[in-house]
Amino acid sequence: MRSEGERRRRSVLVLGPLHPDAVARLGEHLDVTVAPTGHDDPAVGDPSRFAALVPMLTKKVDADLFATFTGLRIVSNVAVGIDNVDLPACRARGVVVTNTPGVLTDATADLAFALLLAASRRLGEAERLLRASGFPPWSPGFMLGKRLKGKTLGIVGYGRIGKAVAARARGFGLDVIATPSSLVDVTAHDTKRVPLEELLGSSDFVSVHVPLRPETRHLLGARELRLMKRGAVLVNTARGAVIDEAALVEVLRDGHLFAAGLDVFEHEPVVHPGLLALENVVLLPHIGSADPETRREMAMLAADNVVAFFTTGSALTPV
Ligand code: NAP
Repeated sequence: MRSEGERRRRSVLVLGPLHPDAVARLGEHLDVTVAPTGHDDPAVGDPSRFAALVPMLTKKVDADLFATFTGLRIVSNVAVGIDNVDLPACRARGVVVTNTPGVLTDATADLAFALLLAASRRLGEAERLLRASGFPPWSPGFMLGKRLKGKTLGIVGYGRIGKAVAARARGFGLDVIATPSSLVDVTAHDTKRVPLEELLGSSDFVSVHVPLRPETRHLLGARELRLMKRGAVLVNTARGAVIDEAALVEVLRDGHLFAAGLDVFEHEPVVHPGLLALENVVLLPHIGSADPETRREMAMLAADNVVAFFTTGSALTPV
């Protein structure tokens, strides 16, 4: 038999598997339901009882959801990107939205740099060849890639992850330039800020780190991709739709770009068949933040946001 106090506890729905420590944290303050298969999971029951929702980035949170989740007060997204959440719809209903900034910066920057190296030095292509045909005869002209030292890396979106990639790049002897950003004091950094078009035209490597918003959808379209230097390498660990994927296939196929490294795709989980057919692109299934410490910290921050909202009245990282 639950006490009166327990009966009055608010309910939170976790849409997807969440680290057990984070489920336990939520459970200290709320009644927790975990529904890994989505909000049509039988475990959900009456959706109107939930005051909080903890979705993964693959869950769309939009106006349709509010038709049944009528009691929601907070959506705590387990990601820093919030393009899966309809912010205006949430704001219109007074629902607070939070994300997980900072805790995944280094993991994602590591992966962006891994993709930069893999695409530039043809790691995917070389490994596929070795597995399929055995060790090839050694030759000085075989599998030549791109040298990094002394070249220029352009960072599109110089926020937390963009800056962390820049720090790694300097260790490899790259010069770094970046697009301007409203939040960063230009004078406090040694990174030259240039408009997007200038950056594209003067970078040997380009790494994309802008959030996906209506104004950044296809920020790199056919025109912008053609503005990139011939033989440049493009890396995207932000969101797929920031780049026009069909146009990217064209510039990779005709050799305008040397290679690309992609962790994210325009229509996940679908990968453009043109990309799958190309040798000069490294394709990863959205694993930017995939290390156990980072995943736990993301889950804990998502849980702490919900707990703080209901215990103090303010979430920790609202957007
Ligand atoms: P952040 O700190 O907010 O940085 C984003 C930067 O992009 C800000 O400096 C922002 O400038 C800039 N920006 C926004 N619109 C722009 C535009 N049109 N042109 C140029 N710059 C623009 O975010 P973050 O933590 O670095 O994360 C960046 C993104 O990475 C996330 O939104 C998410 O989609 C993605 N991500 C992916 C993975 C993965 O698993 N692959 C993991 C983590 C994050 P202002 O300051 O002027 O707004």
